[in-house]
Amino acid sequence: MSPECGQFRIDRNAAASKTAQVRENRLEYPVMATILASNDDSVEGSSSTNRVPHWKAEMKQAVRSGRELCELVGVAREISNLSAEADFPVFVPPSYVRKIEFGNSADPLLKQVIGVSEETQGFGQIDAVGDLPAQRAPGVLQKYAGRALLIASGTCAVNCRYCFRRHFPYDDAPKGKQLAAAIDQLTEDPAIEEVIFSGGDPLTLSDSTLADLVARCDSSTGLRRLRFHTRLPVVIPQRINDELLGWVGRLRLPITFVMHFNHVNEICDLAIQRLHALHRAGANLLNQTVLLKGVNDNPDALCELSNRMLDARVMPYYLHQLDPVRGAMHFEVPVQKGRAIVDAMRKRLPGYAVPRYVCETAGEQSKTPL
Ligand SMILES: *Cc1c(COP(=O)(O)O)cnc(C)c1O
Ligand code: SF4
Repeated sequence: MSPECGQFRIDRNAAASKTAQVRENRLEYPVMATILASNDDSVEGSSSTNRVPHWKAEMKQAVRSGRELCELVGVAREISNLSAEADFPVFVPPSYVRKIEFGNSADPLLKQVIGVSEETQGFGQIDAVGDLPAQRAPGVLQKYAGRALLIASGTCAVNCRYCFRRHFPYDDAPKGKQLAAAIDQLTEDPAIEEVIFSGGDPLTLSDSTLADLVARCDSSTGLRRLRFHTRLPVVIPQRINDELLGWVGRLRLPITFVMHFNHVNEICDLAIQRLHALHRAGANLLNQTVLLKGVNDNPDALCELSNRMLDARVMPYYLHQLDPVRGAMHFEVPVQKGRAIVDAMRKRLPGYAVPRYVCETAGEQSKTPL
């Protein structure tokens, strides 16, 4: 069975230890009852079985300390490192914490979100993919023909330790009215056919802001496509709510969501259900994965991920070689090993289920096939 992600309680480890108790208290949403009583907007869904916390409640209750995270998932708190956290904060919503296996310090999801001492070794670059020289306006990146990427939000649903934008100057990115202005500039440029909402995570914007920005794109005559790069459907699947499905369904332009699942344990029943809904609303669904040492660097893990993605109507798109970002180098898998993994996948999967293994090189005109 896939891990639960939309439930109010988790009982995967009912051990009566103190740690288990701490974890349960935290993850049972002690404040949800009050929110429930006071404000109906705080939950999604109408039937009692379908009720999950509002995605914003998940964000609010995110674990922001590595030590606390260790306690919640029953591993030694010494794994977490404070200077790593000072460089890049820990941020993990309860919905993601619940998918981490209790007591497993090598858990593939825990590794993606816990700040460790290896991050502080100082190898790697601050702007590994050349984002800064590619800015055509604050928060608008153009590297490739026909498409431009908008840093629509500096906030994410989870802080991934390997993030290639962990050092990005989000404070300078457009906000509020500046976002609308940035979109207008792009839609007026005849060379731009596709606007890519990225970040951070664009789905951390409110439904009304998103509906407004997307409508702006949709009414322009020059654009042909829209795209969202997001990890919210992975981390807090209930973000795919009725409002979002509403505007997706009303769009004239084709829209593609590029999700970011790295491991099958990130997939849960709620995610599959909401992805189906997004697909029914008319969106194309793709997935990109970062090849991460100790997380998914073997054919079994990635074949299973591809298969489960297809079950959820999501097409595997890219398998990214890690960008050489300072603080993330301990996740690096040698390209030779990556190639062997993809070769093994090709022998086991239909061609369309094998993602393109690529890296990003600053200054190149596309992602580079490996
Ligand atoms: C990766 C990236 C894209 C998207 O590239 P595709 O190959 O079209 O998926 C677009 N713009 C920027 C700046 C990127 O880094
Ligand atoms: S969601 Fe994306 S942008 Fe945000 S921390 Fe993770 S990899 Fe980076």
